[in-house]
Amino acid sequence: MNNHYAFIGLGNMGLPMAKNLLKNGCHLSVFDLVDTAMDELVAHGAVKAESAVAAVDGADVVISMLPAGTHVQQLYLGEQGLQNKLSVNTLVIDCSTIDSHTAKTVGQALAKNNIKFIDAPVSGGVGGAAAGTLTFIVGGDKAHFDMAKPILEHMGKNIFHAGDLGAGQVAKICNNMLLSVLMTATAEAIQMGVDNGLDPKVLSDIMLQSSGRNWTLELYNPCPNVMENVPASKNYQGGFMVDLMKKDLGLAMETASNSKSITPMGALANSLYKMHSAQGHGQLDFSSIFKLFQH
Ligand code: NAD
Repeated sequence: MNNHYAFIGLGNMGLPMAKNLLKNGCHLSVFDLVDTAMDELVAHGAVKAESAVAAVDGADVVISMLPAGTHVQQLYLGEQGLQNKLSVNTLVIDCSTIDSHTAKTVGQALAKNNIKFIDAPVSGGVGGAAAGTLTFIVGGDKAHFDMAKPILEHMGKNIFHAGDLGAGQVAKICNNMLLSVLMTATAEAIQMGVDNGLDPKVLSDIMLQSSGRNWTLELYNPCPNVMENVPASKNYQGGFMVDLMKKDLGLAMETASNSKSITPMGALANSLYKMHSAQGHGQLDFSSIFKLFQH
């Protein structure tokens, strides 16, 4: 590899991820539909491209971080897509969270042109992207995973090979479905305690040392002012947006339907997050689901 990478999609996640690649000495051509993020990266040594096609010219690794499956499909397989522009043996790393079906479709189509593709969605949010501590959950050929690992290590701390093409997306969606269930259940339990006269901090400390212990109680308490420096204590600003959790739960429900999996807890969390978003909370952190139980 000639250490020349293209990075496409420089939003909340892509921008700090690209910065970490530059910090680690990688040569980057960057492209986004919006200029501002590209200009910021130029100040850090990146080359600004006029289009996605221009960005991948001469690159042997392409990384994309786009909102949803339709954007990924369009970028690679659309009319102006990269499918026929990438050189043979290019390694494509798609870090977007999308449905596993699209990941497989894109990966299989690119394979016909001898282009390597892995799905590599991330966990760890904007904070993890900035700190270079993301978890990457990869699906695809093991040899392609091994090639990508040293690159992903510039942006993350834990790099997992989940299985074949699409498996990264499935594992990511299983995790986020579980997280949504833990968050809603923790919120309702704390509020029931408050309704019965308990101090939410005392109750949280008790549950943290009892069998209800879980990640949200340890690191991300949804009740305001129980923990410092979590979105709940900052008017639910920052963190992981309700609308992104809603999107991920939509993907989880689609996945469950395709595999005929029984997911009543995920389905309930999906309904609750949809309702919470419809009530105008889509831009708040996902721990704001606590508001649904307050009265
Ligand atoms: P974002 O909306 O901030 O960024 C997406 C970027 O892609 C935007 O800058 C947009 O202009 C650009 N874009 C869209 N279509 C494009 C195209 N055809 N060519 C070039 N650029 C294009 O989204 P984000 O928060 O960075 O999330 C990206 C992905 O990461 C999503 O799939 C999301 O679910 C996932 N994710 C986000 C978080 C988080 O906390 N934000 C955490 C984990 C995973």
